[in-house]
Amino acid sequence: MYNLNAKIRNLEPYEALSGDYRIRLDANESFLTLPESINNEIMHELSKVNLNRYPDSSAREVCEAFADFYGLNVNNVVAGNGSDELISIIISAFLEKGDSYATLEPDFSMYSFYGKISEAENAVIEKNADFEIEVDNAIEVCKNKNIKLLIFSNPCNPTSIGLSSGEVKRIIGSLPEALIVVDEAYMDFWSESMLSEVNAYDNLLILKTCSKAFGMAGIRLGFAVSSEKIINAIKAVKSPYNLNSPTQIIGKAVLSNRKAVNEAFQRIISSREKLSVELSKLDCQGRWKILESKTNFISIIMKDARSFFEFMESLKIAIRYTCGIIRVTCGTEEENSEFIRAAKEFWRER
Ligand code: PMP
Repeated sequence: MYNLNAKIRNLEPYEALSGDYRIRLDANESFLTLPESINNEIMHELSKVNLNRYPDSSAREVCEAFADFYGLNVNNVVAGNGSDELISIIISAFLEKGDSYATLEPDFSMYSFYGKISEAENAVIEKNADFEIEVDNAIEVCKNKNIKLLIFSNPCNPTSIGLSSGEVKRIIGSLPEALIVVDEAYMDFWSESMLSEVNAYDNLLILKTCSKAFGMAGIRLGFAVSSEKIINAIKAVKSPYNLNSPTQIIGKAVLSNRKAVNEAFQRIISSREKLSVELSKLDCQGRWKILESKTNFISIIMKDARSFFEFMESLKIAIRYTCGIIRVTCGTEEENSEFIRAAKEFWRER
């Protein structure tokens, strides 16, 4: 009889929320679809692709468009099939069996998930009661445990809180022998990016995704930005044709339209601000705390989190409940209003 090995025997497939929801505010996607002019450009370019041919294995043009957008050197960039693929590659390639790596809790769950497959030891560093990273403590634990890699999201999913670039630099500088992976999936909604510092450190790796601010969750496109040495190592271990041709074409078209992209960023930030103001006006007698969001979602700490989540579910409004936190992605004006109306009803019934 064939037996699965111990490291994968008890793993469960990732199950995204499925079902029939009126409103989806659960996955931190952008609520904006692409402008018609970009769609037309994409259709035109797609019609020229020879699908019988493999895609460009280096995804050169989309990497150049990404590097241009952020003012980076393309040699510091590699593309992945979503940043999820890059997290998986980085954790499996930069850690060896028996190495230790650190994650902060709560944080994006896929970091420790991929760690299980790599058979590395996961040191979990708890955040404080306000879900902030205690930088001195994190540095000390990493030193004591001889951590080879520390990975965290900034701003953080699921807390929406950010750590200043000064504090991030303090971590990187204090742990010169560890690879510090800063996942900036949501940094387009804030302004403390480390991208411009990428050549100032030899142990910094930044992850970016096109699934949030750029509104392209459906094409699976993410990037790693680091020193040439680290980027070349990722290029060497990734599968040769990890980015399909349509993704490369669509990604290039969107990343090259700076004006449309910047407008989208602003519209999402404005949705966040309005949603946050409206939520803070609700009379819930201090029974929830809205965290100061630097992302495209609002995180709320509340005792009744599970019943709030279930109440929304009963109204076919999808939100996320994780680690005691309610997480609500900013939506269109109508979606936000529907959610606020439902939240008011929840508190009225209490
Ligand atoms: N990092 C963080 C912090 C995320 O929240 C997500 C998506 N939920 C990802 C990475 C994965 O993004 P992608 O769609 O590029 O795989």
